[in-house]
This record gives sequence, C-alpha cells and structure tokens, in this order.
Amino acid sequence: MTKEIRIQPIKNGTVIDHLNVGSVYKILQVLDLSEFALTAAMNVESRKLGKKDILFIEGKELDDKELSKIALIGKGASVNMIKGSEIKKKFQLGYPKKAEAIIKCINPKCVTNSEPLDTKFDVKQDPLEATCYYCETRMNENEIVESIKK
Ligand SMILES: [Zn+2]
Repeated sequence: MTKEIRIQPIKNGTVIDHLNVGSVYKILQVLDLSEFALTAAMNVESRKLGKKDILFIEGKELDDKELSKIALIGKGASVNMIKGSEIKKKFQLGYPKKAEAIIKCINPKCVTNSEPLDTKFDVKQDPLEATCYYCETRMNENEIVESIKK
C-alpha cells in the first residue's frame, strides 16, 4: 500500500485516475495532447483495481468530446480538475449513452464513410456495444476503441 501513487498536485489541469492498465496508451493515441506537459503513471498499484494507469495533463481542461472518448476507453476512470493546486471538480466517467462524431463506423459502405456526415451511435454497456444510427452496424469494445477518431 505504501507503493500506491497519490495524485500529485499539478497546479492547473486534469488528472485522470483509476484507468485500466493500458488505457493511457490508448488515450494518447486518440487525444491531441502534444501541446501539454504530460505525466503518465502506468501499471501502478491500486487498492481498487490491483493495477492502474494515471494520466496527469498540466494546463488542460478536457472538453465534452474528449471526455466522451476517454469514457469509451476507460470505464470507471475518475477525472480530477485541478485549479490553483486544488481539486475543483471530481467525477467518475461512465459510458456515454450516445457517441456523436467520436467514432468511425467500421462498415465501409456506411453513408458516414462517403458523405460529410457526423457519425451517430447508440452505446450500450456490459458488454460495451455501439450501434450505428445510419447502417445499424454493431461494434464491440475493441472495434469501438480502434475506431475512435483522432
Ligand atoms: Zn454505419
């Protein structure tokens, strides 16, 4: 338990805690965080999860779209918004019920892949599944994570 990493007080920004192991890597692939100072703790001890990942993003407030992407990757992760070295807001991410313009449809014939249309999916959980509003193609968790737009 002494090994457990506590949330370091970054001055301003966002800490995403209680991520499943491997989530940080996926998040970095789908969010453009190249302008921000990042600290990632991967595969660290967690009382809740056994092992977990944590991502510290200095100077960044995540918008709804970014939070939805993270929610699809890291179910149950907690988000801490830090301002002036204090936690201003803390909440747990659940799966979104809908995903709009966040993931791509895996059906190559889907209208969203040929027309300039935003994708729309209904999202169900346990297991995670997304159904395309346009072509009704269903996507499982792996397919969803692989299809999250950059
Ligand atoms: Zn589709």
